[in-house]
Parts: sequence; C-alpha cells; structure tokens
Amino acid sequence: MSYDIDKPDEQWRAELSPAEYQVLRKAGTEPAFTGEYTDTKTTGVYSCRACGAELFRSDTKFESHCGWPSFYDPKDTDAVELIEDRSHGMVRVEVRCSRCGSHLGHVFEGEGYPTPTDQRYCINSISLRLTPDEN
Ligand SMILES: [Zn+2]
Repeated sequence: MSYDIDKPDEQWRAELSPAEYQVLRKAGTEPAFTGEYTDTKTTGVYSCRACGAELFRSDTKFESHCGWPSFYDPKDTDAVELIEDRSHGMVRVEVRCSRCGSHLGHVFEGEGYPTPTDQRYCINSISLRLTPDEN
C-alpha cells in the first residue's frame, strides 16, 4: 500500500512527539477520557496531525461517552482508509488517514447511537488537530 505522503520511519519519529508517534505510526491508543478533543464542541475541521489532510467536521461529532472523540461520518469518504484489524484477539476495523497512512482509531457500527449512519468513528485526539471555523 503506498500513500501520497510516504516518509521513512525516522522522519516521522523526528517530526512527531513521542506520544503522537506511538499512536499515529504504531497504532497505539491514547488512554480513554484523556484526549484534548474528547468533549470539544468547537465548530471546525479536524485534520490529520501527521499530514494535515482534512478528515472530519465538527458537525458529525457526537457524544458517545466512550472516552474518545467520536464522529458518525468522515468529511469525505476518500479521506480515510478502512482496514480489517485482527490484533488483540478482536476483529475491528482500523481507520487510517488515506493520504499518509497514519493510524487514527477504529470504526464501529450497529451500536444504536442515534446518528444518521449508526457508525462510530472512535478517533484518538492525538491523531487530530482541530482548526476552528472563523466566525
Ligand atoms: Zn495523514
């Protein structure tokens, strides 16, 4: 799989903080309820912290009470890549940035949240950067 932005691992390690690197490049997960955007309601666009691609909009963010920012739809279906993840003894669907391949989180569906898609994109805050809309 090749991505538009394809950097050697040493470069990512140099550009990202250790915590960002661990989640974005090593598919780590930030602890629940600790991320800076978990409860954020600011209007704006959430971009990939690794490459800046626009990924989600605040108007699809909803309160899932799961401890991570949750969205019911990406800004653009091509913005994210979905990959089956069989790690940790579970079958989950990993969500990656489709421009740089960085790990964002997982998507779950059929959980019964009252959203238009019944999907929950459960995304690490540290994988995102919020740009508030100018008012
Ligand atoms: Zn990216």
